[in-house]
Amino acid sequence: TKVILLNNRPEATPEHSDFKFIEETVPEIETDQVLLKSLFVSVDPYLRGRMRDIKSYIPPFELHQPITSAIVAEVIESKNDRYVKGDYVLGNLPWKTLLIADGASIQKVKKMDMPLSAYLGVLGMTGLTAYFGLEDIGKLKEGETLVVSGAAGAVGSIVGQIGKIKGCRVVGIAGTDDKINTLKKDFNFDEGINYKTTDDMRKALAQVCPDGIDVYWDNVGGAISDAVLFHINQFARIINCGAIADYNEKEMPTSMSPQTFLIKNSALMQGFIVSNYQKQFLEGIEQLATWLQQGKLTHKETIVEGFEHIPQAFIDLFNGTNTGKMVVKI
Ligand code: NDP
Repeated sequence: TKVILLNNRPEATPEHSDFKFIEETVPEIETDQVLLKSLFVSVDPYLRGRMRDIKSYIPPFELHQPITSAIVAEVIESKNDRYVKGDYVLGNLPWKTLLIADGASIQKVKKMDMPLSAYLGVLGMTGLTAYFGLEDIGKLKEGETLVVSGAAGAVGSIVGQIGKIKGCRVVGIAGTDDKINTLKKDFNFDEGINYKTTDDMRKALAQVCPDGIDVYWDNVGGAISDAVLFHINQFARIINCGAIADYNEKEMPTSMSPQTFLIKNSALMQGFIVSNYQKQFLEGIEQLATWLQQGKLTHKETIVEGFEHIPQAFIDLFNGTNTGKMVVKI
């Protein structure tokens, strides 16, 4: 099997030399184990955090050990009663083309007439992040203005569409004009701002949010979020989902302290981790699947082909190459 190890802890933006490819022989499986073939590998910004040797909500990756992420795989051989050859499973698994797992580390994919890759995106971690963050912290009300940063990505594109389902005015911030067009054309956003070509973000936000901002979904942190805070309304909710603008910085965070804006607006700012809602995941998947079936929700994926391109796909998250969920097809 081909394997990808963490070779170095990146100092800034990850580079190819931070990864190492090796070949391993796969032993015979034992009782309770299954042999899996990786089909779709998820690359996610949070993996960058696991490459740092710091305490977080999830332990760091170990140097010279395989990197792990969400993978959809096919059972090739099974010595576990719960799985048979041909089953599709999902798990947090090592970056290997063929791998052995025990029954506890995987779960069956509940087929819902969606491509298998969807279980890494809209019906997986990123869709659930959007759904539960909005339900629990955003508490959207009809007519409110929702601003989403990282809007054209996996989480952001679903957040904005749920905002529209809930009757909000939705403004997205993303890094190319193509993405802004996609936000409006495909994801139903009302307005979009290209932060890379906009000199004065505060002014641009004022123009597209004439009634101020009631809910801010923050995927990026940094200067973009500083500009958004200037426009929050009384009782605004700020959902700290991610801070990708900081992930490759040595010293974090890079943005100003938000206290002044929170105090004067009686605003709520709350971070969260999607796994907080693990017990409710099925409920979330069912709601997202229903919206997809009803045509109220759509999703995009950027699919990169080939195991050897996993590191590049991961690095490209920081270049903004993806629209929707970045997935590697093996
Ligand atoms: P995305 O699909 O949004 O991919 C990352 C996107 O971030 C890129 O496409 C790029 O788009 C944008 N980006 C990259 N660098 C910067 C930068 N310096 N400043 C602004 N934007 C940048 O990834 P996900 O949807 O998977 O994740 C989005 C965020 O949500 C991440 O911060 C992630 O860590 C977080 N997250 C948090 C979870 C939780 O449980 N709290 C769970 C899942 C994700 P562009 O072209 O617009 O720059």
